[in-house]
Amino acid sequence: GSYAAAVGAAGADVDRLAPSVAQRRFPALRFTNEAEILHDRTGGVIAAGETVQALHRLVASGGADVLEDTRVLEIDRSGQAIRIVSERGVLHADRVVIASGAWLRELVPVVRPDVRVVPQTVEYFRLGVPARSLPAWVHFGGAESGVTYGLADLGRDALKAAHHVTQGPDTNPDEVAPPAHGETDALRGVLDRILAVPVLESLGIERCLYTMTPTEDFVIDHWPGDPRVAFASACSGHGFKFAPLTGRILAELVVNGRADLPGGPDMASLFALRPTAVPGASAPA
Ligand SMILES: Cc1cc2nc3c(=O)[nH]c(=O)nc-3n(C[C@H](O)[C@H](O)[C@H](O)COP(=O)(O)OP(=O)(O)OC[C@H]3O[C@@H](n4cnc5c(N)ncnc54)[C@H](O)[C@@H]3O)c2cc1C
Repeated sequence: GSYAAAVGAAGADVDRLAPSVAQRRFPALRFTNEAEILHDRTGGVIAAGETVQALHRLVASGGADVLEDTRVLEIDRSGQAIRIVSERGVLHADRVVIASGAWLRELVPVVRPDVRVVPQTVEYFRLGVPARSLPAWVHFGGAESGVTYGLADLGRDALKAAHHVTQGPDTNPDEVAPPAHGETDALRGVLDRILAVPVLESLGIERCLYTMTPTEDFVIDHWPGDPRVAFASACSGHGFKFAPLTGRILAELVVNGRADLPGGPDMASLFALRPTAVPGASAPA
């Protein structure tokens, strides 16, 4: 429906498959005759943990210090040098980028009205066939079951699956409750409907966090009134793959004051914290 229309409008390189064709090509999935099926041949899976470790090695080899397990408690912009007060002491900086994910609101209070934290439940399953024999898939179940996705886990033979939850009460990222009653049963119900291979057992669940804005757009901007500080909420469950672009916009914002990237005069304006949503946001805070 609307997703297929949006994909078409964006010019994405996808094939539309008739259910009978999809059934032959992907026998591990079940397709109803009414299903609208898009096949994206350009998709891939990023090894997220290894990517972060590689980036860590890259910045360390370039001479940067990486302080792990060090919580920043306060960013004091009142002086000529910015003071970063952490659990391990105070650092001084000319420029600061804040990308603290679901904890962004602690360090950048101006985003509070626009950024919510929504917990997710990811579950791992052992299948009756190798999980890698299935394609990565996203199922749009409408009002009945919402959006569900699945892909082979990296490093072991398991299916990783979850509902993509964008609505729900705001959550304190330090106090995430266990999944709601019936949540895992609902996921299992969707899998039983759309997988044509046996789901043998659950291998466990994980809880993690989406940061969400009302439009699901990212927020990447200067601290209002202070071009020395930039922040990002690369959110809505889509931020990882865009990290090279997000990082470049942030770097250009704090170094050059604007982000001159291909495709627009100032890419950063695409992701600006909307002043309409935050009265008085242009005043220093
Ligand atoms: C279940 C799930 C599935 C997802 N699937 C996808 C996907 O398929 N594709 C995709 O592109 N994206 C996906 N995402 C989204 C992706 O993980 C995020 O968009 C991305 O991690 C955001 O990166 P970030 O660096 O902004 O924040 P994070 O990765 O959250 O990193 C923020 C870091 O800041 C640290 N921090 C927080 N507060 C402080 C503080 N005060 N001091 C010091 N450090 C602090 C945190 O500990 C954390 O390490 C998914 C997310 C979830 C939860």
